[in-house]
Amino acid sequence: MTRMTSFSDGTIVPALGQGTWMIGDDPRTRDAEQAALSRGIDLGLTLIDTAEIYGDGRSERLVGEVIKDRRDEVFLVSKIRPENAGEMTMMLHCEKSLERLGVDRLDLYLLHWESRHPLEEIVAGFEELIDEGMIARWGVSNLDIRTMNRLDEVDGGERCATNQLLYNLGSRGIEFDLLPWSQERLMPVMAYSPLGRGDLLTHPALQAVADRHDATPAQIALAAVLRQEGVIAIPKASTVAHVEANAAALEIELDHEDIEALDRAFPPPSTAQPLDII
Ligand code: NAP
Repeated sequence: MTRMTSFSDGTIVPALGQGTWMIGDDPRTRDAEQAALSRGIDLGLTLIDTAEIYGDGRSERLVGEVIKDRRDEVFLVSKIRPENAGEMTMMLHCEKSLERLGVDRLDLYLLHWESRHPLEEIVAGFEELIDEGMIARWGVSNLDIRTMNRLDEVDGGERCATNQLLYNLGSRGIEFDLLPWSQERLMPVMAYSPLGRGDLLTHPALQAVADRHDATPAQIALAAVLRQEGVIAIPKASTVAHVEANAAALEIELDHEDIEALDRAFPPPSTAQPLDII
């Protein structure tokens, strides 16, 4: 089963994709990582998230190798380092990402976190990349609600396709404001580190819910994030077994009892919180 989410321009993508931070760094694990990403594409996890900063371009290169003969199957996301997102440097950095990935165009290009360059300049830069055919759409990452409201005021800012945010059971602050804010605008949130980088997975409450579903804690952590409307989760997995388990999480329907148990262990926010960032 593949659950889908749509961007406000109508483009449909799978709600479960694949992250690639720390992938491509170690020659000894490259084959396994490539096999994992490939298997993920086979299983419909065709949205792949990378960034110029990951392994100083090594992640983009590895993704490029995996998608060499299957570009059309993939929705490709990369990110620009904020200091590179100025008028004079943005196009050059996008070109370098495209080169490493071996593609002509990104499906989505994100500002990795807040930049010292003005939002007006960044939005104009992204729009120029669209005009040049180098990217299909753009978005942001790690921007809090105050900055998203500022972005809304910028000419063209309403064309922001997504905000990629830290979101997992252990980090639920966005449920108070930023997630509903995005849902109202039909702007999907991309949930990064949906497994809490693995740290969440030994929590007894997660294990208890997992036992009820004959599932694993990782699968429950993903199901918990994916039950929210308009969320795209991008777990990173470097083995085929992990990717297959993650894909199978799409089958899990959490019931009322599960959600109450998870809420007791990982309480949802009752007030506005500063944005969690890794
Ligand atoms: P994550 O996806 O929450 O967790 C990755 C960890 O979980 C790895 O140790 C992985 O192990 C393990 N794992 C994966 N599937 C599993 C399974 N089924 N069972 C047990 N363990 C499993 O952490 P993340 O890499 O930080 O976040 C995901 C992606 O989000 C990144 O790769 C990156 O693309 C993006 N991200 C974006 C930002 C940003 O600022 N925008 C920040 C952080 C991350 P193996 O590797 O051994 O499979």
